[in-house]
Amino acid sequence: MAQKQNNQQENPLFQKVVAHAKEYGFVFQSSEVYDGLQAVYDYGQIGAQLKNNLKQIWWKAMTQVNENIVGIDAAIFMHPLVWKASGHVDNFSDPMIDNKDSKKRYRVDHLIEEKAEILKTEGKIQEAEAILNAMNRLLQEENYVGLYELIINEKITCSVSNTSNWTEVRQFNLMFSTEMGAVAGESNTIYLRPETAQGIFVNFLNVQKTGRMKIPFGIAQIGKAFRNEIVAKQFIFRMREFEQMEMQYFVRPHTEKDAYNCWKEKRMNFLRALGLPAEKLRFHDHIKLAHYANAAVDIEYEFPFGFKELEGVHSRTDFDLTEHQKLSKTKMIYFDEEIEEKEKQRYVPYVVETSIGADRLFLAILCNAYTETTGIDAKGEQKSRLYLKLHPAIAPVKVAVFPLIKKDGLPEKAREVFEELRYDFETIYEERGAIGKNYTRMDMIGTPFCVTIDHETLNDNAVTVRFRDTTEQVRIPITALKALIAKEVSLKNIFEKL
Ligand code: ATP
Repeated sequence: MAQKQNNQQENPLFQKVVAHAKEYGFVFQSSEVYDGLQAVYDYGQIGAQLKNNLKQIWWKAMTQVNENIVGIDAAIFMHPLVWKASGHVDNFSDPMIDNKDSKKRYRVDHLIEEKAEILKTEGKIQEAEAILNAMNRLLQEENYVGLYELIINEKITCSVSNTSNWTEVRQFNLMFSTEMGAVAGESNTIYLRPETAQGIFVNFLNVQKTGRMKIPFGIAQIGKAFRNEIVAKQFIFRMREFEQMEMQYFVRPHTEKDAYNCWKEKRMNFLRALGLPAEKLRFHDHIKLAHYANAAVDIEYEFPFGFKELEGVHSRTDFDLTEHQKLSKTKMIYFDEEIEEKEKQRYVPYVVETSIGADRLFLAILCNAYTETTGIDAKGEQKSRLYLKLHPAIAPVKVAVFPLIKKDGLPEKAREVFEELRYDFETIYEERGAIGKNYTRMDMIGTPFCVTIDHETLNDNAVTVRFRDTTEQVRIPITALKALIAKEVSLKNIFEKL
């Protein structure tokens, strides 16, 4: 048990990725000068750009590529009854257990799953499955006495104290609450939204009517969500403030399974198109379904610390709209004029949801891009190289422009080239430092193209383009630069694979 947890935290590749993220301006600990705030992170100058690119691609892949999907931007604060209707006030909690010696708190399902993983690595596959089955059964029970007994019987210990001196299993609601209004006490408790989906459901009628949307249609949204995660670890994998990219697809009742299967495949294609390799992605069907779902699957990515959920695809039935209808007393009915039988024309639509964390996607992309290679250099010596192999369409900086030296009119010429490119692509101009060092720096942030202006450029108006992945260098006319870059960074490269 202890071994497993330490492995996760000390995975050398993961540690390198985390250190790299900080060193090159991708991600910083929030409030670092005050020793940080646990499970809250800030994106730096390069990370913010990468994250924006990912969000923009997701947004366009939903709203631009699909004619019947539109996007909205709902507020974080919502009426408190929204969370009553959605079930979050009563159900959005995890069973937790505390170790009395270390005072560490664990999610019970994580604790048991980790035990099962250990058994699997020891070749005890059947025992592992038996524990997981028992857990899934016990999670459905009214009280958690059985779960506690399972932990004791399986001799599951705390990784810090190594004891099994556990408290009973208790529920913790994961929603953050605050007060709205100037005077405390007179005000209402409201919640920071734990998911963006509800902003879509309560706007279903607004969008459907004003957009004259016909079923099937989707509403997409990107926005912050907040969860008071009890066990927050693994860097930006599990945060207390994070961003979700969710799409709710409204369909006729009884057609939801087809839509669900279709979106499962589409989302997998999207992740592959971004450059995540097929063998590092897999589906994981939910055995225990959430109260609102009739089918659910996780798309898992193999992070350096193992296969973990990256995205969820859920068939949410008509649960949310029906509950909002009950509590708000507003009819959430769609009139389907394409149905001939009159009595079936009015219905509450069913919903298929795709939900991915922008931060988790960022982490998967970063881990996957982190590339260390060794090769033989021109002098015949072994040399190692580190670079981020990001798909050019998502790279935070597309092109960097350098004058070979800082004199002889080269900076002026390089600036001209920079001006040519900067309005079309994220472009960096740098005249300090040696070219080799500048190339390396660009490799570290995944810049696919470096352009160098030398003395010859002043005569022939040609530049040297250096490619990140191969380090190959070619000389091309300045007039051909834009087209070369545009072809590689075009979002079409991604969208045509969806
Ligand atoms: P987990 O089982 O990891 O807690 P979940 O099943 O509760 O996740 P969902 O409610 O389905 O997650 O949320 C959809 C997506 O939002 C997840 O697939 C994940 O990418 C992202 N997400 C959820 N919680 C967090 C978090 N605390 N930090 C970062 N991303 C998150």
